Amino acid sequence: MLCLGIEGTAHTLGIGIIDSSGKILANVMRAYTPARGGIHPREAARHHVKVAGETLHQALQSAGITPEEIDLVAFSQGPGLGPVLRTAATMARALSVWLNVPIVGVNHCIAHIEIGRLVTRARDPVTLYVSGGNTQVIAFDAGRYRVFGETLDIPIGNCLDVFAREAGLAHPGGPRIEKLAKKGKRYVPLPYVVKGMDLSFSGLLTEAVRMLRQGVNLADLAFSLQETAFAALVEVTERALAHTEKREVMLTGGVAANSRLRQMLKSMAREHHAKFVVPPRELCGDNGAMIAWTGLLMYKSGHRQKLQATQVLQRWRTDEVDVKWRKS
Ligand code: AMP
Ligand code: MG
Repeated sequence: MLCLGIEGTAHTLGIGIIDSSGKILANVMRAYTPARGGIHPREAARHHVKVAGETLHQALQSAGITPEEIDLVAFSQGPGLGPVLRTAATMARALSVWLNVPIVGVNHCIAHIEIGRLVTRARDPVTLYVSGGNTQVIAFDAGRYRVFGETLDIPIGNCLDVFAREAGLAHPGGPRIEKLAKKGKRYVPLPYVVKGMDLSFSGLLTEAVRMLRQGVNLADLAFSLQETAFAALVEVTERALAHTEKREVMLTGGVAANSRLRQMLKSMAREHHAKFVVPPRELCGDNGAMIAWTGLLMYKSGHRQKLQATQVLQRWRTDEVDVKWRKS
């Protein structure tokens, strides 16, 4: 069985094709980069519409298949930016109707976990999912992916990006902050906010920007921003790990590219005798293969969806999905 998955929640339009054994036949991505500032939802959607045809063509070509060989179409139904979600959904509906194959709407956050489990062979990890639009600590329990902790305001990737923008650095800021942080020598105290099991980064961002304007060294600030934010992320992940007594920790999302965050999580996992895994970079960021794979898992576990039930869900939560493809 072949599933074609369409990812469209933010800056990336991704199309992936995967078979039932988990073999990724194609994983093509096209990213929208704003000329300045952050992502404008309608601009991003417009970009995706423009590249949709060629992205689809390229995915089919790299998989070496014809459209007729596709048995199932999956798409990111949420959460994400409204205009972008609707673009991906429209594309998926058109394909489903044209090819006369079933359609499945996939939760984006869960797709990150499922592709990670597939390629890292982690069976039941505590996952730290950190990206431009999401920050969650997730673990499977009693039929659902439970959110053990999450940001109460902005996601960590967004925090890094906005700080970088304030410092005059180009988008995306995360990698640039990482590079600068390596040159930082002095830790500047910044607000460290963990509330219960949840996180908050907006005060941290405000204070870092304020210090920047006061003339505090940029490299020192980049270093301190990373140390503070990552320590909070690791603290919450550690508590979820201790509570659930799971044996694996997975890091995914665009911010998973950060080597300092990897190092910190890895040493925490080691202290708990847990295995630490990170999927390859192209499967950490938003991609179509993860949607295709999760759609396939859902379909094989009996999930059926009418076309009328494919309206996008901008605020679809990770813990609202009944995970029928995993044993409780
Ligand atoms: P995503 O939303 O999953 O596509 O991830 C994009 C986010 O990852 C953006 O906020 C980037 O700034 C961030 N990012 C990418 N590479 C790094 C890095 N090396 N360190 C920190 N953040 C990063
Ligand atoms: Mg994502």
